[in-house]
Amino acid sequence: MEVFRYSQAKSVEGAVRSNGTFIAGGTTLVDLMKLNVLRPTTVVDINLLPLDKIEPEPNGGLRIGALVRNSDLAWNATVKEKYTVLSEALLSGASPQLRNMATTGGNLLQKTRCYYYRDTNYACNKRDPGSGCSALDGFNRIHAVLGGSKACVAVHPSDMAVAMMALEATVHTNGPKGERAIALNDFYLVPGDTPQHENVLAPGEMITHVTLPALPSGTRSHYLKLRDRAQYEFALASAAVVVKVSGGRIERARIALGGVGTKPWRSHEAERALEGQSANEDTFRKAADAAMAEAKPLKFNGFKIELAKRGLVRALKTTTESA
Ligand code: SF4
Repeated sequence: MEVFRYSQAKSVEGAVRSNGTFIAGGTTLVDLMKLNVLRPTTVVDINLLPLDKIEPEPNGGLRIGALVRNSDLAWNATVKEKYTVLSEALLSGASPQLRNMATTGGNLLQKTRCYYYRDTNYACNKRDPGSGCSALDGFNRIHAVLGGSKACVAVHPSDMAVAMMALEATVHTNGPKGERAIALNDFYLVPGDTPQHENVLAPGEMITHVTLPALPSGTRSHYLKLRDRAQYEFALASAAVVVKVSGGRIERARIALGGVGTKPWRSHEAERALEGQSANEDTFRKAADAAMAEAKPLKFNGFKIELAKRGLVRALKTTTESA
């Protein structure tokens, strides 16, 4: 394996095209290399690139560099005040030590925590395309109820990405074909027949930054994460809620769910059920039912459907209280 700093790689595209990869915080990549799950031929260290700034956008939004550490983003004053859901999601993830290393770009590209993906003794279509999926008939308690296929039912593990989905973030990239701006909802792929392809990045294409749009005045937001223990654990279900309530009615709602989908799960169904309605528990429950209407349980994860519904109702109540 060859290791480059970005500035040393004569052709970054060439370096990462053939089973190569970028490394920033390394909090996922190094673990998976130790487990022999990922075996890149080339690793390009991007830590010296000037992508570690959080800056206001001229239109009132926020620009977040790909190398901004999760801790710095969570405690940024603008993020805490205006994008509370993002700060809460980041602080609910991993441990302080990991958050000090993990980056914005890397968090978006986190690999699943599916036990079978991380254990090379088991068949896994995501790790070894065409080999089968050990989770479908295995112990699938943590797996997805939304967006799965016969090839893969792995959950996307990021909390940050769920909050960014509800904030309608845009991912900006630079690659062999130039720069691109991709709506986060279009960035991720559901597994279908090719679970090894998790997003639309081309070989050699790097995330440079993420932008968040300005939110309408009076918007409130919140992230609620439900898991097996209070710290250092991945979500069984989570809800990211961004709402504006006026005169007791929900004017605008953006909803995303974590822990239940094969990608961070934006729920337009829940948003439609909320907008224009009174902000009360009956409305919230209808929105939760709509969000999970297409859910398909596996043998051990049916509990996630009701858990996700109750989590969304509670997140909406918390967000709209005294609004
Ligand atoms: Fe692999 Fe996906 Fe099946 Fe897990 S759910 S074993 S990641 S194919």
